[in-house]
Amino acid sequence: MRREGERRLPDDATLTTPIIRLTDLRKSYAGAPAITGLDLDIASGEFFTFLGPSGSGKTTTLRMIAGFEQPDAGRIELDGKDLAGSPPYARAVNTVFQDYALFPHLTLRENVAYGLRARRVPNAEALARADEALATVRLEGFGDRRPGQLSGGQRQRVALARAVVNRPRVLLLDEPLGALDLKLRHQMQVELKQLQQQTGITFVYVTHDQDEALTMSDRIAVFNRGGIEQVATPWELYERPHTEFVAGFVGVTNILREDGTLFALRPEKIRLSSTGAAAEGERSIAAKVTAASYLGMSTRYLLTTATGEALTVVEQNAGFGDGAPRWAPGVAVHANWAPRSAWPLASAPIIETPGRTAS
Ligand code: ADP
Ligand code: MG
Repeated sequence: MRREGERRLPDDATLTTPIIRLTDLRKSYAGAPAITGLDLDIASGEFFTFLGPSGSGKTTTLRMIAGFEQPDAGRIELDGKDLAGSPPYARAVNTVFQDYALFPHLTLRENVAYGLRARRVPNAEALARADEALATVRLEGFGDRRPGQLSGGQRQRVALARAVVNRPRVLLLDEPLGALDLKLRHQMQVELKQLQQQTGITFVYVTHDQDEALTMSDRIAVFNRGGIEQVATPWELYERPHTEFVAGFVGVTNILREDGTLFALRPEKIRLSSTGAAAEGERSIAAKVTAASYLGMSTRYLLTTATGEALTVVEQNAGFGDGAPRWAPGVAVHANWAPRSAWPLASAPIIETPGRTAS
């Protein structure tokens, strides 16, 4: 397998204690396994994302880190300290949920200061820190307003301010943008990333949306059926997926089979031409265009090869003059790609425990 040159952790991460370490974590609900033996290190200051389909165990893992759920087995460490038996309020983590319940009768400043007051931070200090936190989420001067006067995106920012004001070591976010429309979600993705960089707080972010994960994350853990299939940077996940599941979940892919090995070949790495005369060393197969979808920035072609296999190809609409689709349905083409673009997949997940020594 071609695995050399993979970067597993930020360069300094292997030298320091991870801020969060999960070791052989397990959890069942009424005998049905939800988490099936999970190992993971998260480095301090990372924007770390749990990505996976619904039911794959992302929320369960997050809730165990927060202390809302108890694992059946395994260890959860924060800064090298075992959290077993430590209640949620005693952990230096804060959680931001999708349905961010704000107190409607309180001002934003009072909403944000609420948790500090509950922890007996003096009033003046609590209010000053609340204003500071509101400024951090770009709601400077909004302190006297009430939640009813805010848009959905602004309410989400107040919820963030409420978490950030506690200065947690780790912020846990479970699909916090799920309720927002697409445009606002994109805007909030950028803001969240900025907030994370500005505060230096470690973010553990849950999403089922691969675009969102790729946009924001330093590293991503791909969840499947209660386990992690791969931990990697966004580009590694896309360019070097370990498994067919990861290749299919992160982006669109073609799966080729050759001599019993599966290969992932991304649609944009295939070059279409009318002749098979490919560049030196290129692979080439004859195919027929079955569908052409013009998408503005790109055109997506569905091809059928002579052996009946489907291939998806995406061409950027750059440099083709008028940008109109080059190939019409029914046309015979050749699909060409460099051999190194076809990435070999493992038949089973490679469970990584980066930088770990057996214990
Ligand atoms: P995700 O957040 O990735 O969608 P979850 O962690 O919520 O997944 O769920 C993982 C599995 O555990 C699912 O099969 C789900 O039905 C089950 N599960 C989660 N929470 C509970 C619960 N409180 N009671 C029973 N089953 C649960
Ligand atoms: Mg969930």
